[in-house]
Amino acid sequence: MNSDFLIIGGGIIGLAIARSLQVRHPGASITLIEKESDVARHASGRNSGVLHAGFYYSADSLKAKFCRDGNQAMHEYCKEHGLKLNPCQKLVVAKNAQDIDGLLELKRRGDVNGVPVEMIDEKQAIAIEPNVRTYQQALLSPTTATVDPLEICQHLRGQLVASGVRMLMNHPYRARIANNKILAGDTIFEAGRIINCAGLYASNIAQDFGFAQDFTILPFKGIYLKYTGSDKPLRTLLYSVPDMRKPFLGTQFAIGVDGSIRIGPSTIPAFWRENYSGLSNFKVHEMLEILRWQITLFARNSFSFRTFALEEMRKYSKRYLVAHAFEMAKNLDASKFNEWSRPGIRAQLLNTKTLSLVQDFVVEGDDKTVHVLNAVSPAFTSSLPFADWVTQQWLR
Ligand SMILES: Cc1cc2nc3c(=O)[nH]c(=O)nc-3n(C[C@H](O)[C@H](O)[C@H](O)COP(=O)(O)OP(=O)(O)OC[C@H]3O[C@@H](n4cnc5c(N)ncnc54)[C@H](O)[C@@H]3O)c2cc1C
Repeated sequence: MNSDFLIIGGGIIGLAIARSLQVRHPGASITLIEKESDVARHASGRNSGVLHAGFYYSADSLKAKFCRDGNQAMHEYCKEHGLKLNPCQKLVVAKNAQDIDGLLELKRRGDVNGVPVEMIDEKQAIAIEPNVRTYQQALLSPTTATVDPLEICQHLRGQLVASGVRMLMNHPYRARIANNKILAGDTIFEAGRIINCAGLYASNIAQDFGFAQDFTILPFKGIYLKYTGSDKPLRTLLYSVPDMRKPFLGTQFAIGVDGSIRIGPSTIPAFWRENYSGLSNFKVHEMLEILRWQITLFARNSFSFRTFALEEMRKYSKRYLVAHAFEMAKNLDASKFNEWSRPGIRAQLLNTKTLSLVQDFVVEGDDKTVHVLNAVSPAFTSSLPFADWVTQQWLR
């Protein structure tokens, strides 16, 4: 089967790149193949649905630029197409005096990145969110909002199909035959350009083409504990100050587009790539490969992995997770946080030479193939401008 562009992976990144290619290359034939029976079965349909504002990231990063612009682009996309959006805002709260320094650093980054953020005192924070708990000050992000990520992906899929993109579900990439030819399912596909947006499997596919030589993707599981009460005791996203040396945002109260409340997601090291629960999608060779890296990181304690992993594993305990989150909120009934909801798994890139987690988005490629390697959070927020950049820089 031939096409000008062949995209592997029907998550938000593959969908957004297909959309961008249509604009930049009108008339070109575009095929998207997905191994599952529908789009957004993995991270893109299992995330917190937060449109991040862009104040966490250092100014020289792709994340800073694409998150800020993506927040706005996704707001516009939802408004234009009548998709759900909850303008709930975010408060980053402090536990102690040391956290105030963290808030000030986030404020500084927000200012440099051109993102509206405001330092407010405890009284102002309580006026916004009566049940917030913070030490003296908090950081308000008025442009942070939540969406329904599945609704957005399904909408994109519908629009792409209607405008002529060939979408083939149940077509897993199996092997590279040549630089512009692959086997997916039982079909051979040939394309002018192949774009790998395979999320958790992106580094494996890139390696078949000679890329991602210094990298592998490690899976980190995000579990959520759901509030089952019929009231809505929180309306605003509450986040703690993160460890800015790591690409994760720490504990949060996630407010859904429908006002639902969840604690999470955690960042628990997973043992295989789609290790959602029990033995789902278990692959022994994958577990051995991932365990090898996890044991190495644990033994060398790279980026304090030992403490980090042990702390995260404790979040499998409902009681621990609730106690941890309740440092940010008050007057909530702990017994009503009693149901796990669908977990998601982050496709976090590890640099295997330096044994460090890669912070920014990474793209590698040549004149035949392009590989999106580290589309971790806030990649959902960033997806529309990020896809335009990939198209302009790599797929002229
Ligand atoms: C728990 C969690 C919470 C998050 N919260 C947020 C948030 O609030 N805001 C935000 O901006 N970002 C968030 N993110 C990050 C965001 O969800 C991801 O960065 C984004 O969805 C990545 O999109 P993707 O298309 O690269 O990957 P995916 O959504 O994983 O898509 C990759 C696709 O490739 C397919 N695929 C894999 N292998 C093959 C193959 N061999 N052949 C064919 N297809 C294949 C998969 O089935 C999948 O559909 C979160 C992530 C997680 C895990």
